[in-house]
Amino acid sequence: MVEKSKIGLEIHFQLTSLSSKLFCSCDNDYRSKHPNSNLCEVCSGQPGSLPLLNQTAVEFSAMVSLALGCHVPDKIMFYRKNYFYPDLPKNFQLTQYNAYGVTSIGVQGELQYGDGSTARIRRVQLEEDPGRLAYGRGESGSNFFSLIDYNRAGVSLVEVITDPDFSSPKDVRIFLNKISSILEYLGVCDTKLDSSVRCDANISIDGGKKVEIKNVNSFKEVEKALSYEIARQKTLITHKIDIKAETRHWDDVRRITIQAREKEAEHDNRYFPEPDIPTVILGNNFISLLESKMPELPDARKTRFITNYKISDEISQILVDNKKIADFFESATNIYSSPKEIANWIVTDLMGFLDETADSSPFLQSRVEPKHIAELAKMVDENNISRKTGKAILSQIIKTGEMPSKVVNETDASMIDSISLISETIDIIFNSEKAAVQDAKNNPNTINFLLGKVMQLTKARADPKITLSLIRKKLVE
Ligand SMILES: [Zn+2]
Repeated sequence: MVEKSKIGLEIHFQLTSLSSKLFCSCDNDYRSKHPNSNLCEVCSGQPGSLPLLNQTAVEFSAMVSLALGCHVPDKIMFYRKNYFYPDLPKNFQLTQYNAYGVTSIGVQGELQYGDGSTARIRRVQLEEDPGRLAYGRGESGSNFFSLIDYNRAGVSLVEVITDPDFSSPKDVRIFLNKISSILEYLGVCDTKLDSSVRCDANISIDGGKKVEIKNVNSFKEVEKALSYEIARQKTLITHKIDIKAETRHWDDVRRITIQAREKEAEHDNRYFPEPDIPTVILGNNFISLLESKMPELPDARKTRFITNYKISDEISQILVDNKKIADFFESATNIYSSPKEIANWIVTDLMGFLDETADSSPFLQSRVEPKHIAELAKMVDENNISRKTGKAILSQIIKTGEMPSKVVNETDASMIDSISLISETIDIIFNSEKAAVQDAKNNPNTINFLLGKVMQLTKARADPKITLSLIRKKLVE
């Protein structure tokens, strides 16, 4: 029997680029502040206080909705989602809800990801983040306690809910990478900030009961939590044990999902329309105005790279996945117009050198700037240096930030293209590697060994093409 998984996601991310919270003027940047120093009568829910909606938050969440192919309505409302938990000073969370013919800020979208897969976006909603609980232990080591910090309470949070359209944890990872990339392009959320993105997932196998996984505090962890949960459910199926419809928490220390307390899993949120915020009429011009403000998104940029710069689909994808790398590429191309060569230097050499991964970007922290890569590409194009020499120079630029031409002048690395000099070196190698010369005469495939020796002796400064033709010539002499 082939088990088929169905996975749906509830993604939360903060609008970290805002300057104030969603319904008050408290600082949106609550990180690194003294606990409970960033709150006011509104976000701490004092009686008589009135919320004032942050207009930019509405615009940002609408931009996210448009980027995810959603319909943005011409009016929105806010609701009180009632639940009692210490992180919620008001005992309700202001959020959105689809009722009375009014929807949240985005509905019914879809997003393509990976190699032509599509995920349906059910809903995008704008809401406030609760406070933050911290757990600790007394000095004796026995007393557990929890602390509460309301600095985060009221920060703008966007929730994106998908249909159960994913069939593997890997699909989910690719999709979440795409979401991260879109958020970076829109400039609304810095996904690298601690707990700025969170994700819950629901999963069922073979149409069985649905299990929800909560508390996954980074996109990176979602794939791991899902892989664990699939393995757990498959083991239960093998042993003919029923899977319970339940909520489980991801424990990122023990790397397992654990059953949430039954009470926690029960929901009776009683959504009430928020009486202190009237229905917000966005109007007809709102969308066209936003569309005119929307930056170019990764898919459009990729198409432009392929069309304008004639670089491959694959290389374009790698470049646009990280906006800063794509910007770097375009800056270098503006300095010296050789897009293919520059893309090659960035993707093959620079990213390889720096062990570039999706999670970190040593590339952007290194001392290499677009002007370095532009000059390097130019020097290779004009045959001033070989590619191999260029690589050696690059490894030096990463450390020093010097211009390639300066490195060449200082180290005399300009290409040894003088035929006599290369010939002299070949003579030396032919004398010292007699057996290899005989091999190459019998089997031309072994010629690279001799080429390698010449390159080694000239510290890779000889032109490989000239060297190879000279070796071939000498072999038949
Ligand atoms: Zn406040």
